[in-house]
Amino acid sequence: MSNETNNVKEKMLFGKDKNPSSIEPKKLTLDSHIKFRCHPGVSCFTACCGGIKIILTPYDILQLTKRLGIPAHEFLHKYTLPTYLEKTDMPGIMIKMREEDNKCPFVTPEGCTVYTDRPTACRYYPVGMADFHEGGSRDADGKENTAQEEKFFFTVREDHCKGFEEDKEWTVREWREDQGVDVRDEMNKDWLRLVMRRKSFGLQATLSEQAKRMFFMASTDLATFRRFIFESSFLETYVLDEETIQKLKEDDVELMLFSFKYLAATLFGAQALEIREDKIKDKVAKMKKEQDESVKRSVKEYEELKAQSQKEKKETGIK
Ligand code: SF4
Ligand code: SF4
Repeated sequence: MSNETNNVKEKMLFGKDKNPSSIEPKKLTLDSHIKFRCHPGVSCFTACCGGIKIILTPYDILQLTKRLGIPAHEFLHKYTLPTYLEKTDMPGIMIKMREEDNKCPFVTPEGCTVYTDRPTACRYYPVGMADFHEGGSRDADGKENTAQEEKFFFTVREDHCKGFEEDKEWTVREWREDQGVDVRDEMNKDWLRLVMRRKSFGLQATLSEQAKRMFFMASTDLATFRRFIFESSFLETYVLDEETIQKLKEDDVELMLFSFKYLAATLFGAQALEIREDKIKDKVAKMKKEQDESVKRSVKEYEELKAQSQKEKKETGIK
């Protein structure tokens, strides 16, 4: 196995935007058939669990930390490395391969030790999903255009993978159900959209360091995000009903889904959260004060310039 990190699983998570040789050039639907089986009896068993870039989504992190019974900050420190997501400036994390053999820290000769909670990217192989317009398609008014979303599936066939030689046939739908990717897709959807949206805006649209830090914190450490909601002026700023507040206190998945809404609002100005009336008034008053001050400054500058020019005219005798 190569010691280099390849990015097949990263591609499978974010979809296909170019055509590496391992991607088969054939569009599949949910009813298309594939022949594939992976089990401990294949000669390549666990060969795909090393030298690979596995990006973790917020839901992956949530499930893995629960499985391992450790807090997110400990998990991040022990098992992950920072990375940028999908060639954007959005910070994310990937699994840190073991130093001694460049393999995933969760793999043993018997297989994956976190199998039922394995990351999304590990579940996709060998069937990826492409969604060309996700987060990226806009109509003439600049509004997101979801009507044109075009989804299809494709297979990735890595040379070392013997799973394609096995005698088991599935439809893409059956395969996805078996691997539990439908649930993951639902859980990851809004977060992936944020990344794809950032990608479609391009780097000329700046994102402040503070916004990037917030994206990283909310995406990787829900306990800290929960503290941010309940221990800052958050609840004085946004309108949230009692039921939602209760859910955010107790339910990690609700908290995660809420964090995506919050990020969409703060990063891209999506109207996903309602700001309290008095806060809007404060903000408008602050903006007006700043505006008034800048108008006063320009008037002062103008008066000074005028006085200066009159003085010069007097001195040179020009009328
Ligand atoms: S998490 Fe499990 S399936 Fe994924 S690379 Fe690691 S050992 Fe393999
Ligand atoms: S059959 Fe393919 S997916 Fe299964 S262990 Fe081998 S390389 Fe990995």
